[in-house]
Amino acid sequence: MPPIRTRFAPSPTGFLHIGGARTALFSWLYARSLGGAFVLRIEDTDTARGSQESVDMLIRDLKWLGLDWDEGPAADGHASIGPLGPYFQSQRLEIYAGYLELLKSKNLAYPTFESKAEVEAEKEAAIKEGRTPAYVGHEASPAEMAEKTAQGLKPAWRFRVPEDGVTEFEDLVHGKTRFENKLMSDFVIVRSDGVPTYNFAAAVDDSLMGITHVIRGDDHLSNTPRQICLYRALDLVMPAFAHIPMILGPDKQRLSKRHGATAVGEYETQGFLPEALVNYLALLGWSFDDKTTLFSIEELVSKFSLERVGKHAAVFDTVKLEWMNGQYLKKAPVERVAELAKPHFERAGFLIDDPAWFLRLIKSVQEKARTLAALPLECAFFFSESVSLSPEAKEKFFAAGHPAWLEALASQLDAAAFDESSLEVLVRAFAEAQGIKFKDLVGVLRAALSGQTVTPGLFETMALLGKPRCVARLKAALEWKND
Ligand code: GLU
Repeated sequence: MPPIRTRFAPSPTGFLHIGGARTALFSWLYARSLGGAFVLRIEDTDTARGSQESVDMLIRDLKWLGLDWDEGPAADGHASIGPLGPYFQSQRLEIYAGYLELLKSKNLAYPTFESKAEVEAEKEAAIKEGRTPAYVGHEASPAEMAEKTAQGLKPAWRFRVPEDGVTEFEDLVHGKTRFENKLMSDFVIVRSDGVPTYNFAAAVDDSLMGITHVIRGDDHLSNTPRQICLYRALDLVMPAFAHIPMILGPDKQRLSKRHGATAVGEYETQGFLPEALVNYLALLGWSFDDKTTLFSIEELVSKFSLERVGKHAAVFDTVKLEWMNGQYLKKAPVERVAELAKPHFERAGFLIDDPAWFLRLIKSVQEKARTLAALPLECAFFFSESVSLSPEAKEKFFAAGHPAWLEALASQLDAAAFDESSLEVLVRAFAEAQGIKFKDLVGVLRAALSGQTVTPGLFETMALLGKPRCVARLKAALEWKND
C-alpha cells in the first residue's frame, strides 16, 4: 500500500471554524495513526483579497491545536514547503489551465457565454416543464466564440458530464454511494475570469499532491461524483473518500454563530486548553468504544480509525466541552495553568505582584475550574478591597441573627499563626468553645471573607487572603445589616 497522504484544504475566508478544525483533526489523526503525511493546502483562488490574514489565522489556530503539517505553507504563512507544491491554489493557475486544455482536447470541456440570469431562467424552465433538472449549458459555436472574443468577452468552461450511467464510489464512512449521471449538470470548471472552480482545482490538486484519502465534511458528498468524473476524464489517480458527519448545534441546526463561539480562536480566548478542545472535537463523529471520553493526543493517534466514524450528525455540547476542559485543567501542572491564567487575571484588572502567591491561588481553584476565563471572576474577592455580599451568602451570614462572636474570632485570628492547619485547629476550637456547629461557622466565615457561598477550602482561602485582610473583613462584617 502506498504511504497514506491526507490533506486539509481550507478556503481562507476568516477564522478557523470548529467544523474545519474537526475536519483537519480527523485528516491529521488518520495520517499520523498510519505513519502517513498530512498536507495543508490553501484553496485561495476565490479569496485572494485579504486572504493572507486568514491564512495567518488558520496557521496560528492549527498550531495552537497541535496539528502540524508535513507539506504546505511555511510557518510564516507564505512560502510552500514540500515537493508537490506550491500549496496555495492561487499559485497553481497554470496547472489548472493545462488540465483545461487537456479536457478541451478531449472535447470534454466546452465554452459558454451565458449569464447567471440565463442559467437560472433555464433551470427554472426545466423544472416547470418537468425536464430532468440536470443543466446542460449552451455551448458556444466557433462563430460565437470568435465574435464574443473579438468583443473582449471570455467564456466560462463547463465540463461535459457523461449523459448516462452512474458514478459510484465506496465512501469509507457512508459505504457504497451512487449518483446517476443524467441528474448531474454540466458544471463550470473555469469561470469567465479564468479562475478554476472548487471541484476542478480540488480534484486536480488531490491527485497531483498524491492524496490517498480525502477526509472532509459530508456536505461535500454531492461534489464527489463531479470530482470523480474529472479524475476519469483526466486519467488522474483518484483518492479514497471519507465524508464525516456534520456538526450541529443543540437545536439540531448546523452549528453556527447563533449557538455561541464557533471560532477556534474564541475557545483559546475563553481559556480552553488545546488538548481539551482536540479531545472534544475527536468525539464529534468518532468514538473508540462508546464510553471512554478522555483521550490524550497520543491515545487519539494510536486509537483513531475511520471504521469508527459514524454517519450521523454530531451535536456540539458546550457543557460537555467545559467539563472536559475542567478535567484537563485539573490534571495540568499548576505552573502551566498559572501561566495561562495570568493574562485572564490581568485583563480583569487584577495585578499579580507575587507569583508564588498566585501559584498557590491557582492551586486552590484548579480542581474545580472549568475555563481559565471564568477564574478571575470566581477569584475576584482575593483581589478586591472589600467584599460584595451575594444574596445567598447574606442568607447564610444572617441565618441565626447577627453572629455576635465575630469580634472575638477576629481578635483570636489577629494573634494566630496563619497557616492552614493552625487556622483549622483554631477555628474548630473556637466553634466548640462557642457551642456553634462547625459547619455553620464555616458558612458564616466564608460569607464574611468572600461574600460568596462557594470558595476554595476555607482555611486555604484564609491563608491566601492573609491575616490583615481576614481580620479587617471580619470587622467589616460586624457592621453588616440584615435589611
Ligand atoms: N476548500 C473546501 C472547503 O473549505 C475544501 C473541501 C474539501 O475538503 O474538498 O470547503
